[in-house]
Amino acid sequence: MNIVFLGVPSCGKGTQAEFVSKKFDLVHLSVGELLRKKTEDPCDPLGQGIKEKINKGFLVDDTLIMQKIESFISGLSSDEGILFDGFPRSLEQAKLLDVLFLKLGRKLDCVINFELDDRGVMEKISGRRSCPECGKSYHIKFNPSKIENTCDGCGSKLIIRQDDNNESVNARLKAYYSFTYPLIDYYSNQNKLIGIDANQDIESITKNIENIFIKTP
Ligand code: AMP
Repeated sequence: MNIVFLGVPSCGKGTQAEFVSKKFDLVHLSVGELLRKKTEDPCDPLGQGIKEKINKGFLVDDTLIMQKIESFISGLSSDEGILFDGFPRSLEQAKLLDVLFLKLGRKLDCVINFELDDRGVMEKISGRRSCPECGKSYHIKFNPSKIENTCDGCGSKLIIRQDDNNESVNARLKAYYSFTYPLIDYYSNQNKLIGIDANQDIESITKNIENIFIKTP
């Protein structure tokens, strides 16, 4: 099974991807996380270029994204299903994924669209905390860590992501509506799109997704 999670920044797709990938034995591919790892070396000019784009809320170039996706997938065996979190983010990327899947003999089974209104986006982004080590995401109200400011998984101190500031959030929302939003029609026309209400609490969203997974052939 290969699945795409689609949605506005901070709609909760990363948190859900973490839960359901474990439960359904899928490989969780968070492209944002993959890119953030690339920015850790201050002497790597490519990584620093990516960091600048991320911090400004711009999308990273398709060529680079596709190289990362292809090299990640080629490291998997054909029977391992993938849960794409934050990819594709543009029509161009979606079409390139179709080509890549055709080449690899894989099939995209369904696309889950996390529907969240603008108020929900602001509420979720302003309370988000992230682990800089393992990438786990928390929310001070909806998904708090067991010990304040400390990652449940690896014990690292939680941070506010550098791109979770007003300016960058506005740029990310703009990028979402310009480039990612058209994917709703693209996948809906292929009968692959299933919408879920991302304003619900985490457990209810997880249950909705699990039901979708169980029904997906
Ligand atoms: P995320 O962790 O999914 O919120 O992604 C953080 C940032 O990484 C985005 O705002 C973009 O700058 C970059 N990014 C993540 N996924 C993609 C993608 N598929 N295409 C281009 N840029 C991406």
